[in-house]
Amino acid sequence: MKTQSLHKRKSNLAQSNKQLEILSYGIFQNGELPTFKDKISETNQFPLKAKKLEILQINVGYMCNQVCEHCHVDAGPDRQEIMTRETMLQCLNVIKSTGAHTLDLTGGAPEMNPNFRWFVEEAAKAGIKDFIVRSNLTIIRANKKYHDLPEFFKKHNVHIVSSMPHWTRGKTDKQRGDGVFDKSIQALKDLNAIGYGMPNSSLKLDLVYNPSGAFLPGNQAAMEKDFKKALLEDFGIQFHNLFAITNLPISRFLDYLIASDNYEDYMYQLVDAYNPSAVSNVMCTNTLSVSWDGYLFDCDFNQMLALPVNSKVKHISEYNEALLENRNIVISQHCYGCTAGAGSSCQGTVA
Ligand code: SF4
Ligand code: SF4
Repeated sequence: MKTQSLHKRKSNLAQSNKQLEILSYGIFQNGELPTFKDKISETNQFPLKAKKLEILQINVGYMCNQVCEHCHVDAGPDRQEIMTRETMLQCLNVIKSTGAHTLDLTGGAPEMNPNFRWFVEEAAKAGIKDFIVRSNLTIIRANKKYHDLPEFFKKHNVHIVSSMPHWTRGKTDKQRGDGVFDKSIQALKDLNAIGYGMPNSSLKLDLVYNPSGAFLPGNQAAMEKDFKKALLEDFGIQFHNLFAITNLPISRFLDYLIASDNYEDYMYQLVDAYNPSAVSNVMCTNTLSVSWDGYLFDCDFNQMLALPVNSKVKHISEYNEALLENRNIVISQHCYGCTAGAGSSCQGTVA
């Protein structure tokens, strides 16, 4: 398992234009596979249009205590990109005025941003219905200064969404690093102890599953059942929902696909599993993603590919809901990851 980001390793794939070249050329250029644009055109769904904003997703920085094998952010301890308080203030102005029902803080490990707690306290005052923090769990156990995070989350009624690739140590540690499983289990126990994830509790705790190799996730409901049974029987742990997310062929997962000689096979799988009924609900249609430096993207994946929104409004400081609504979504072949099978989004299946 690599311990540095693609950026730190100065890998070619750290550059978004190199990733986009791979996704545009080869099997998509020679016509072996249809481009995403051609595919959605078959059912008159091009251009894909943004609807009313429902979810504001803010990436507060790419720094993370982990270096997971398939991270689409290319996050890690060596990443320096961190949202400043000034940009957070600009985000807060939007959070207070937007009609979005969900605020979703992500990273990296968002908790590593030095202004994270202040930002959560201020954002919670806006009273947005669903306030999500994507916590990788291990951060809670990484250092004493984070041990009180469960209580902090509880105080602000934060909804926790955490990655947990498997209920076994071997599969989890293979994807996320040695020791991640044990720390995650301890963090889940800490969260359960104060009410998170318990039946009928309003303290929401959801887990995210993503496949450990070049294959698509199985049925979300069946997997949720298996996860619940195993975590309860083995560790006494409970949680609410499991979101099954497809790995998109970008960043470190693209690097993995190429290094393991699985890239073309994986793209064939995604195109074969294309589900036209998932297209109208892909998350970019109701979500806006804000980068650590305040720029706007249709989704976190487009953010990582440096594909900004197709709008006059480019930055959170000039946010204008009317101008952003109905914009054309920027697409490429990575979008097949959102429309395969039952579809995939940050909140699991969409179809
Ligand atoms: S915990 Fe999340 S952000 Fe951090 S490296 Fe793993 S996948 Fe990336
Ligand atoms: S990758 Fe982003 S832009 Fe493409 S379909 Fe998925 S959510 Fe939409």
